[in-house]
Amino acid sequence: GLEIRLASRPKGWPTTDNFDLVEVDVPEPGDGQVLVRNVVMSVDPYMRGRMNAGRSYVPPFEVGRALEGGAVGQVVTSNADGLKAGDFVLHNAGWRDYAVLDPKHATTVDADLAPLNAYLYVLGMPGMTAYAGLVDVAEQKEGDAVFISGAAGAVGSLAGQIAKLRGASRVIGSAGSAEKVRLLTEEIGFDAAFNYKDGPVADQLKAAAPDGIDVYFDNVGGEHLEAAIGALNDFGRVAECGMISQYNNAEPEPGPRNMFMLVTKRLRLQGFIVGDHAHLKDQFFREVSGWLREGRIHYRETVVDGLRNAPEAFLGLLRGENTGKMLVKIADP
Ligand code: NDP
Repeated sequence: GLEIRLASRPKGWPTTDNFDLVEVDVPEPGDGQVLVRNVVMSVDPYMRGRMNAGRSYVPPFEVGRALEGGAVGQVVTSNADGLKAGDFVLHNAGWRDYAVLDPKHATTVDADLAPLNAYLYVLGMPGMTAYAGLVDVAEQKEGDAVFISGAAGAVGSLAGQIAKLRGASRVIGSAGSAEKVRLLTEEIGFDAAFNYKDGPVADQLKAAAPDGIDVYFDNVGGEHLEAAIGALNDFGRVAECGMISQYNNAEPEPGPRNMFMLVTKRLRLQGFIVGDHAHLKDQFFREVSGWLREGRIHYRETVVDGLRNAPEAFLGLLRGENTGKMLVKIADP
């Protein structure tokens, strides 16, 4: 099988040269382990951070070693109690065709309950991120006006819809193309949206939210964050989820120039990492899978075919080539 390794650490924007495609033997599961054949894997913005040296909230990828990340696979052989050949499992050994896993690192998923891709998306980490950001971090209340950047992506598109389903008075989104803006307003229920490439974010946000915003779900940082601070009403809250506009900067850029508004408007900005919100998991699964069954959540996927194209899929994600979740199909189940 194939595995994809980190060849070198990027400076600034990564390229396919930072990845190595290596043909390896299919590993043998030991006692108590399972051999899994991957079916689908996720590429995520946080992986860019793991390509750098130095510890963040997760350790860096190692040069010369396979990358890691969320994937769903099917058990081929099992030496473990509770898992049998044919079972589908969610785990973190993506970027390879075959993986040997301890059962404690593999969560059984039900392919009849939802399509396998959903466990990497709506019912998985991105869905939980959107939910925890709104519920726990921004403490979104009924009647809030909510602004979401990166709104046509995996987390952002779900955050917008969840905000609306939880009673937001108005949901505004920003994204990087006219087609994404059209999708947001015409198909997935945002009240207003704009293309941040069309002009200053502050001006476009003001036009889209003339009465201001109460919550900002930040996926982008930079100019978007400054604009949101300017648009927030008194006692507004920011769920600081990510700052993708900065992940490929070789040098840090200056922060928002209007931070004093945190004082004057009594704002709260809080960063969060989805893994710290596991206490919401059951509530999240119940509520979101209910909406999903009722057809009240729309989700788009951009699926790249073939493990060998995973580096391109990842680079495409950073460039905005995805609508909804970017996934890589590795094999048919
Ligand atoms: P997305 O599906 O949103 O994909 C990334 C998107 O970012 C692209 O499609 C692109 O869309 C947009 N983008 C890229 N560069 C820029 C830029 N310079 N300015 C504005 N937008 C840009 O990814 P995810 O949904 O997986 O992640 C969204 C955010 O959430 C990221 O910041 C990520 O780091 C964060 N995150 C945080 C978690 C946490 O626990 N805190 C967990 C998961 C994700 P466009 O065409 O609109 O530019």
